[in-house]
Amino acid sequence: MNKQKKLPIGSIIGILGGGQLGKMLSQSASQLGFKTHIYDPDFNAPAKQVTNISSTFEYDDIKNLEDFANKVDVITYEFENIPLETINFCQKIKNVYPNSKSLEICQDRMTEKKFLNNIGVETATFETASTYEGIIKGIEKLGLPVLIKTSRFGYDGKGQKVIRQKEEIEKIASEFTNISVIIEKLIDFELEISIIICRDMNGKISTYDPAENIHQNGILVESKVPANINFTTSSDAIFIASKIIKNLEYTGVMGIEFFVTKTKKILVNEMAPRVHNSGHWTQSGCIINQFEQHIRAITGRSIGDGKRHSNVLMKNILGDQIFDIKDDGEHSMNIYGKEKAKYNRKMGHINIIE
Ligand code: AMP
Repeated sequence: MNKQKKLPIGSIIGILGGGQLGKMLSQSASQLGFKTHIYDPDFNAPAKQVTNISSTFEYDDIKNLEDFANKVDVITYEFENIPLETINFCQKIKNVYPNSKSLEICQDRMTEKKFLNNIGVETATFETASTYEGIIKGIEKLGLPVLIKTSRFGYDGKGQKVIRQKEEIEKIASEFTNISVIIEKLIDFELEISIIICRDMNGKISTYDPAENIHQNGILVESKVPANINFTTSSDAIFIASKIIKNLEYTGVMGIEFFVTKTKKILVNEMAPRVHNSGHWTQSGCIINQFEQHIRAITGRSIGDGKRHSNVLMKNILGDQIFDIKDDGEHSMNIYGKEKAKYNRKMGHINIIE
């Protein structure tokens, strides 16, 4: 594919995936004068409420993917579990951002950690395994406590288990047989932070301030800016994030999650090749939020500087909480429009200016 030129107003942005991230990307695209085409196998995908065109087909439906790719001017995606083959197919027809190399690395926790360590970025120490015996060996090498995570298709704490006691090893290890896993040393972190970073087509990089994140059961519940970290920790995280995005020759917004240990060491936990839940605060804290920033980057526009004008607390609305929102008209609300309020499902978020 040729390098993307600046797309004229009125161009169509194809978005693979129609969840809340696709919905907010679509809203920002419209704000900048673009049209969107959402492709998602779910007829009720939230982004289909706010798009110009939509397709309801599987990600491996080559004929309909071809039709989609031919009708749009550029393609992006809003979640990392889109099959790599789908992206590889689409990029034969139109430019796809972020590039498939980044998606491939981020789709598998093992390749992700190996990539990070190879470029000199520290992560939790880990072992890989795909059999019961392999898991036992890995745990012996690392020592307890550990976390076992499926290498692929895990999100929001799904597909992971902590092992603290010797007596738990056998039972938990046997739940992960014949599947690729990574076994990570459990980090006794002081706090978790994330950086939302963007790189444009010419290599210009822009970062937002680090957010401090609170997770419960592996799910993000709150992000707060400014994070309770000092200047050195903040600059170190920004430096690491820039190194990662540059190395991947990435275009668009990426979310990178870190652990800050009690000795102020920074370890990367995970990279998401897309806009990120911990960046929703930018909708109320910055002139150009992460969604507009991503659309700017993939359409060849100038990207914003990421400067924060307000302190923000972003709270996720999970599952049944949607039925009990205290809306006093003082905070910015974002409701995703999902059909069912399943347990711990992300239904919306509130941005509170502090
Ligand atoms: P992940 O799916 O890898 O993003 O993990 C979800 C959450 O689980 C993280 O945000 C942490 O709160 C926790 N977690 C994951 N890996 C570790 C680890 N190695 N040590 C301690 N906590 C972890």
